[in-house]
Amino acid sequence: MRVGLQPLFVLVPGTPIRSSSLLSVGSIPYFQRHPTILSRNLPFGSARCARKAWAPMSKTEVQANTVNPLESALPQNAPVTLLQSPLPKSLDLKSFRILRTYEKRRGEGSERLTTLRSIPWSLPTTHCLQIESSFCFRLLTTTDSPMNEIRLHNTLSGQTEPFVPQKPGDVSMYTCGPTVYDYAHIGNYRTFVFQDILRRFLKLRGFKLNHVMNLTDVDDRIIAKAAAAGVGIREYTQKYVQAFFDDCKTLSIEAPEHWIRATDYVDDMVKLIQRLQEKSYTYAGEGSIYYRIAKFPDYGKLSKIDVSGIQTGARVDNDRYEKESARDFALWKAPKPGEHFWETPIGPGRPGWHIECSAMAMKLLGETIDIHTGGIDLAFPHHENEIAQSEGATGKQFVHYWMHAEHLLVEGEKMSKSLGNFFTLRDLFAKGYKPSALRFALASVPYRRQLNFTFDGLQQAASAVERLRNFSDRLAQGKFPEGQQPGMAERIAKAAQDFDAGLSDDLNTAIALAAIYDLVREANIVMDKGEFRQGDVAAAQELLASFDRVFAVIADNDAEKLQALGYGNSGGGLSDPEVEKLVAQRQDARKRRDFAASDRIRKELADRGIILEDGRDGSVRWKRK
Ligand SMILES: [Zn+2]
Repeated sequence: MRVGLQPLFVLVPGTPIRSSSLLSVGSIPYFQRHPTILSRNLPFGSARCARKAWAPMSKTEVQANTVNPLESALPQNAPVTLLQSPLPKSLDLKSFRILRTYEKRRGEGSERLTTLRSIPWSLPTTHCLQIESSFCFRLLTTTDSPMNEIRLHNTLSGQTEPFVPQKPGDVSMYTCGPTVYDYAHIGNYRTFVFQDILRRFLKLRGFKLNHVMNLTDVDDRIIAKAAAAGVGIREYTQKYVQAFFDDCKTLSIEAPEHWIRATDYVDDMVKLIQRLQEKSYTYAGEGSIYYRIAKFPDYGKLSKIDVSGIQTGARVDNDRYEKESARDFALWKAPKPGEHFWETPIGPGRPGWHIECSAMAMKLLGETIDIHTGGIDLAFPHHENEIAQSEGATGKQFVHYWMHAEHLLVEGEKMSKSLGNFFTLRDLFAKGYKPSALRFALASVPYRRQLNFTFDGLQQAASAVERLRNFSDRLAQGKFPEGQQPGMAERIAKAAQDFDAGLSDDLNTAIALAAIYDLVREANIVMDKGEFRQGDVAAAQELLASFDRVFAVIADNDAEKLQALGYGNSGGGLSDPEVEKLVAQRQDARKRRDFAASDRIRKELADRGIILEDGRDGSVRWKRK
């Protein structure tokens, strides 16, 4: 079986490697003989992807394939590095020794590989490996750990389905962003953290994301508030747009590939309305243009709303209207006296809220997109109306996977300003809570479950983050005996497998987190007994790195983030190198047995928010309070 992949090279393990030991393997069967490589390896395992993207290979299928003559060149589970060709002829691999199995990551593709090619390969081994793992490859443990099929719950079908993007390896995704008339609250951020976990997980699994998030910067509330403040809508919303960007950064929510404002796409909205007019999906009334939902028989298919009682011509003008009652909605709104409006071929006015998302999503992502996310409260009417508009205009399915995050409750109650339980991120930061704890609290409950936000829960999240950070420090700063602890590599591989299985199962963050906690607990016990070995450090670190590419809480940058928002203690802040220097001075003092000096430095550090932990082996770890 030959498939249309680019030739690949296998670097045979052992030292030294000469270019003559580069073996070209142009076909898939070789990899199918090696489940360790194949089953986790997206691009090379893509023989079956034409049928079903990223389908995991079962062991039976793997073994059913033909024997490859190259197999004898490599022992089963041999550490192998795969590089995509072409490699430069002048490649000097003399100092390059392959220590582990790597997975080439799809989606971080060509530009990163270009970087790889430009690496001077005569660098010392350690340097090469470091470059590899951060730029090009992901470390894999050497045990067989099949990739899990990604399954996502689709509101449209009501089922959890295998995720198959239209184009293997690429994901187009749209997220309804905030309406920027005020600071977003933690309920909003639950949804934004969910879509961030989703996009980060898809990226971890090698997908290339093309993700759009919009900012609704024109709607009834914005127009009313801007008018009350006596400023234009752009001026009024600017403050809240910036606050949203700052909040996202603080919560480590990755910037999507496109962050766009509705008011920059009014022309596209007008064009979409014209397409609907041509197909008679619209009617006019008092200068506004309405969508005739009786003309769209699929109306209600997403939210399963009952449209049997709908009266033809019953319509609604507001952007916010009563739930559970389908009404013809405004695509274009006639200007009211004193309101901001656009002069357009369909008349003066402004777009309705729903047309904004349809027009922007299709403009940037095409007429059919893979994933559309939002809070569950948007399913009806907003997303239902998006479907009616887009599918009415194009005749094609608008979205393959609709994903909705459940509500957030605060201490068991619906969040509302009148109950005094309404919080923005800034309210919580002002109370001294850390961004990482908040992110963790919002991410730890699977997105389709209601999240009961409590201050106890937030404390627990802070401790959980602390435990993970301590473990990460322990790995980085500990001095362990050489070699590997029997069974530890398998234990780490199992945790990696369980972590992936959890997230693959409709982003079950609770299961994914449990996999990591269990490993951390067990590894800590092994470390306490002095049995943890240096040879297991890299695999454990690699797993934590994968974990953090999704959860993003281990890097300890809470203090800087809070300072950037104007919270927290700005005095006495020491940079990492300054801390390292003082820690080294204290270590010297201890070696000289100058305990007075050592204690003085410890106290100075403590006063400036740095806690030291002395290991039994004489090592010292530090962290910020
Ligand atoms: Zn939307």
